[in-house]
Amino acid sequence: MIVDRQGRRFRNLRISLTAACNYACTYCVPNGKRLVAAQDELSAETMARAVAYLIEAAGIERLRITGGEPLVSPRLDPFLHSVSRLGLADISLTSNGQLLSRKLPLLLECGIRRLNISLDTLDAEGFRRIARGGDLATVLQGLAEAKAAGLKIKLNMVPLRGHNLDQVLPLLDYALEQGFELRFIELMRMGHLARDGNTFSQQFVGIDELLETIGSRYTYIQADAPVDSTALRYRIPGLGHFGVIANESVPFCRTCSRLRLSSTGWLYGCLSSSNCHFIGDLLDKPRHVALPALQRLLVKALADKQEVAFSGGVMVMKIIGG
Ligand code: SAM
Repeated sequence: MIVDRQGRRFRNLRISLTAACNYACTYCVPNGKRLVAAQDELSAETMARAVAYLIEAAGIERLRITGGEPLVSPRLDPFLHSVSRLGLADISLTSNGQLLSRKLPLLLECGIRRLNISLDTLDAEGFRRIARGGDLATVLQGLAEAKAAGLKIKLNMVPLRGHNLDQVLPLLDYALEQGFELRFIELMRMGHLARDGNTFSQQFVGIDELLETIGSRYTYIQADAPVDSTALRYRIPGLGHFGVIANESVPFCRTCSRLRLSSTGWLYGCLSSSNCHFIGDLLDKPRHVALPALQRLLVKALADKQEVAFSGGVMVMKIIGG
């Protein structure tokens, strides 16, 4: 097992199944251009082999499938069927939910029991302004169907000053009513926001302000979370939980156990590092050749992790796998 001086190791793998997305969220994509899939994305079979090799070489226990938007990828079906046979402790998926109704039977068939759905507002017009696409009612319908099918659902909201700050309480009300756990993600200095500090500073909303807003309606207490969790969790007695992923205010690099793989075969040990390591060429090789080479790259990827705090990264989330 590869472990660093701070006792960190890779347990959680996030795969960006595709960089393509049916949204172009303002905080993710600077120019509003929807990304088309990169031509050199790995096949479903190769990606599943990457997961199998990384289980062995890095000790990966849990897989999150993300993107881009994983539900738009034609490779989702064969990929899910393959990785569902690898004996992972958990497979979950992060999605914008636009195609959730349509893909729900596949997710259930492949044993997916947990979803994170991004939802930045319950206002239909505001939704279109932030996502530059999609339809709120369709997402809410998908959520209702997933809930009825028994899936455990977390919602992700990125609060943005001047855009959706008035939605913090409506979204929390909705999540508590539905039995979903809402997680507020502090805006991260990724992609264009890493270069444009003004936009970042204008839009950033920190945990203190969020908790104050929530405290104006609800009484909450801190709740337990796994040691390598990115979220601080809170319980609203009798009603449910919410979380805050406070990348900036309360950094969690010291306990980070995440490894990321892009759809084109690049490994990232840290969101905040510009280093990445190509493994696409190893994945066609037999196991006894691939694993030692992979382990050498994993040592480097682990060394890329920040010591303490996230400091920003030039990659956009949809490439690196948010
Ligand atoms: N398309 C899927 C979705 O919408 O959830 C998965 C990919 S998306 C990049 C994953 C998550 O990253 C979303 O919850 C999104 O809000 C978040 N995200 C993207 N850019 C971000 C940024 N600069 N700061 C904070 N969160 C960001």
